[in-house]
Amino acid sequence: MAMRDYKTQMHAARMGIVTEEMKSVAEKENMPVEELRELMAQGKVVIPANKNHKCIDPNGVGSMLKTKINVNLGVSRDCKDMDMEMDKVNSAVELGAESIMDLSSFGDTRKFRTKLTSECKAMIGTVPIYDAVVYYHKALKDITTQEWLDIVRMHAEDGVDFMTIHCGINRETAKRFKQNKRLMNIVSRGGSIIFAWMEMTGNENPFYEHFDEVLDICREYDVTLSLGDACRPGCIEDATDISQIEELIVLGELTKRAWEKDVQVIIEGPGHMPLNQIEANMKIQQTICHGAPFYVLGPLVTDIAPGYDHITAAIGGAIAATYGASFLCYVTPAEHLRLPFIEDVKEGIMASKIAAHAADVAKGIKGAKEWDYKMSAARKKLDWDEMFELCIDKEKAVRYRADAKPEKEDTCSMCGNFCAVKNMNRILDGEIVNIFDE
Ligand code: SF4
Repeated sequence: MAMRDYKTQMHAARMGIVTEEMKSVAEKENMPVEELRELMAQGKVVIPANKNHKCIDPNGVGSMLKTKINVNLGVSRDCKDMDMEMDKVNSAVELGAESIMDLSSFGDTRKFRTKLTSECKAMIGTVPIYDAVVYYHKALKDITTQEWLDIVRMHAEDGVDFMTIHCGINRETAKRFKQNKRLMNIVSRGGSIIFAWMEMTGNENPFYEHFDEVLDICREYDVTLSLGDACRPGCIEDATDISQIEELIVLGELTKRAWEKDVQVIIEGPGHMPLNQIEANMKIQQTICHGAPFYVLGPLVTDIAPGYDHITAAIGGAIAATYGASFLCYVTPAEHLRLPFIEDVKEGIMASKIAAHAADVAKGIKGAKEWDYKMSAARKKLDWDEMFELCIDKEKAVRYRADAKPEKEDTCSMCGNFCAVKNMNRILDGEIVNIFDE
């Protein structure tokens, strides 16, 4: 195989090189590859693709492209069966997830991680902070700065395509956080770990202090940095507060430093946020972080619906993606309650994919509205087979129709003889329509 004469996808884009990954993404997005390359050179689009993740089917992330979704999975103390977790991964990819974040927090995490990067074609993301706590088997305060950085290198070597690094919370932002009280404090798992470590050791955030070293690792393996939002609001009361915005400013500064080394960047965002604040948040992120792709964790638009948080997140995700977010982290009905089962994973993926598609229609992404047009045309013809083929979830649609068969095959049991679609087709074809005695 030919040697790469570029370091990262961004480096290639800036040198005018069109990579195989760019060609593949441009084709999927139905976009001229030169246009894609230019957006990548500016940092507005990323292709997370670690040079050691050989089986990847690359995807681009950026607001000008189809909105992508991520699924969080991984082995944990309460769910340690690696094969079962791998089944969830495979089913998530089949259902259309473009990205899997491995949040494993128990046992031999490296084994599962390398299995993913050698077998899974989706983008693989990780949060090395979680892994450090498991890997070193010692008290949090005793983990050294070098050990934190070593874990980042290990994940890069293992072929991880993007890593969440919580480097936006430093001693200064932590001080401001303590001065400005919040209802829910810090709800980011990684953020709470690094905050606790800073408090207990008195040291600066190692990822912030040694950001250049993190960048050197990312450049060497072509890892995309997902700048984590330790201070994302964990309830709508805390949305758009001082801590969230101050951390975002730090992330904007770090974005520029990453781009100086040709390291691709995505920015992580809220969290919980009322509907009326989402559009402004997306715009603020784009200006403060210079147009870097925005990866939102929801946002959940209300806090009162445990059991239905895939819906609260899909509402927020659709609005966020309409106004600039390009990557949605799925949320399952189990959020805030327990680990998701496989059915929850499916529900979460479907809700996220619907949100992503709704935003793509609103943004005018190529091919998005055409899908809806085809469905409506099939619906008008009452062509059920064609409708099923076009469904985002064919299996559920087929099952629901079969559960209550209509008397007349061409209608459905919702309206039966009153089927407006059928009756309009007939009357416009010059037929007589007798609803009651048919
Ligand atoms: S029966 Fe009613 S719901 Fe069903 S296809 Fe006809 S109009 Fe639509």
